[in-house]
Amino acid sequence: MTSETQAKETDGFHLVIDALKLNDIDTIFALPGIPITDFLRIAQGEGMKVISFRHEQHAGNAAAAAGFLTQKPGICFTVSAPGFLNGLTALANATTNCFPMILISGSSEREIVDLQQGDYEEMDQLAIAKPLCKAAFRVLHAEDIGVGIARAIRAALSGRPGGVYLDLPAKLFAQTMNADAGKKSLIKVVDPAPKQLPGADAVKRAVDLLKGAKKPLVILGKGAAYAQADAEIRAFVEKSGIPYLPMSMAKGLLPDNHAQSASAARSYVLAEADVVMLVGARLNWLLSHGKGKTWGGASSKEAGKQQFIQIDISPTEMDSNVAIAAPLVGDIGSCIGELNKAMGSGWSKPPADWTGAIADRKDKNLTKMAETLSKNPPVMNFHSALNVLRNAVKANPDAIVVNEGANTLDFARSIVDMYEPRKRLDVGTWGIMGIGMGFAVAAAVVTGKQVIAIEGDSAFGFSGMEVETICRYNLPVCVVVFNNNGIYKGTDKNLSGGADMAPTLFVKDSRYELMMQAFGGVGVRAATPEELQKAIDEAVASGKPTLINAIIDETAGTESGRITSLNPAAAKKAA
Ligand code: ADP
Ligand code: MG
Repeated sequence: MTSETQAKETDGFHLVIDALKLNDIDTIFALPGIPITDFLRIAQGEGMKVISFRHEQHAGNAAAAAGFLTQKPGICFTVSAPGFLNGLTALANATTNCFPMILISGSSEREIVDLQQGDYEEMDQLAIAKPLCKAAFRVLHAEDIGVGIARAIRAALSGRPGGVYLDLPAKLFAQTMNADAGKKSLIKVVDPAPKQLPGADAVKRAVDLLKGAKKPLVILGKGAAYAQADAEIRAFVEKSGIPYLPMSMAKGLLPDNHAQSASAARSYVLAEADVVMLVGARLNWLLSHGKGKTWGGASSKEAGKQQFIQIDISPTEMDSNVAIAAPLVGDIGSCIGELNKAMGSGWSKPPADWTGAIADRKDKNLTKMAETLSKNPPVMNFHSALNVLRNAVKANPDAIVVNEGANTLDFARSIVDMYEPRKRLDVGTWGIMGIGMGFAVAAAVVTGKQVIAIEGDSAFGFSGMEVETICRYNLPVCVVVFNNNGIYKGTDKNLSGGADMAPTLFVKDSRYELMMQAFGGVGVRAATPEELQKAIDEAVASGKPTLINAIIDETAGTESGRITSLNPAAAKKAA
């Protein structure tokens, strides 16, 4: 090729980059390898931020968290077959959580894959991805790259957000075409998440139900956090005077110390409420499916006495578990906006005996909690350690908290108050382990804020190698490993009496802090609240990659934390 013809040509690599940039996507989470290595180099050369990981699952989790935080699909690039499969776990998790992301994987030669002739990393990736995400596409020709990226963005962002798979065969990247024609083939997506207003009749139905309620309750879910309708939601809650419960990732949408927060009286309000309005929260296992004893039902299967209003972008979410008396289908900003209008000026607040009863219970529980937190047992436990982190977050309300584990998750969720929207990222709808370092990297990269990752020692292990990534990009991430020597706790015995450790145990007194030191970050062992306090203060002040190995009483945990009931125990006890 002469330099003149070269100037007029573009190729698959550049078209993919140009299509992403045209759509204001400036960050890629990835793991290089065949066939995307050169793609990532060129993308960085063209000014994109390329964050490269040690395992695809964490690159994928980072993309998912970036999607949740920014309302732009997070982009993850992987190699074919195994790399793709590693990324697929994150894609499925993003879809489950309604986070917009696009997994883009290189793939092997179609002709060989389809005839199953045994190509390098042969796999029909499109077919495998399809059932695990919202949509899946493949681009075979350079001139279709624009359409492929546009369709992927729309599918990820429109309606209920979710994960999209985009299959780019190796051969596509090297295809060339005329540069002008290439430029024209790209699409800038207009209005990918269009406003969806609920009908006036649906709004009236909901307002009437709220008006007649004696014990109304609002439940805010992570859909409400994602929607970025913070001001409308706050206006609604405060104008209506209705007590609210935040689901874990909706914490901070209104500050947890808000007078109307009913978190400290959760079991009381769920069992007692008569009208419950769900805002971007599903009635799944996390809300006991809207029925049973949690909701005041007579048995574990029976519904309570609640009538439900549900705001959701997905019409088919309605009636998924129990009857929804007043469905409000639309985006949360529009739905809440319409409710605010329809409520008018003369809105009467909920009966004082309801709000008063909640306040009494809150006071009692908060006093009890304060007593527990003020204790300083000889060996640091979940409470005395989390008390330190609670104060750290209070002092740094714009820090982003990432949280996973069993006991570490359950205790942190209730102890560490959040003050601002979208500052808490956690195990989400599946309640999974392994999101920690991926979420932490994304949070630091897309917001530039301090990240505090509160990690069980087991949970940390799933993504621990990414501390190298944190150090490499010099991210302001402080990882606090709650080290109690094992899963749930560190005291299990080998039931056979043999020499092997029990399957739930780790090497005792592991030096996790050395992992961070190995890559040039700061590693600290903290065995007391004072040591923990000092370490976290220094981490936040310096913004340096830090890992605090917080030594927790190994007898302190309970089996599966709050969800012990989901972990089947043998009916026949060991002799
Ligand atoms: P949580 O676990 O916090 O209860 P879920 O993930 O169960 O939250 O529910 C989130 C819900 O929010 C989903 O049903 C999803 O369809 C909905 N959702 C997401 N984004 C929007 C939006 N912009 N407007 C309305 N609903 C939304
Ligand atoms: Mg543990």
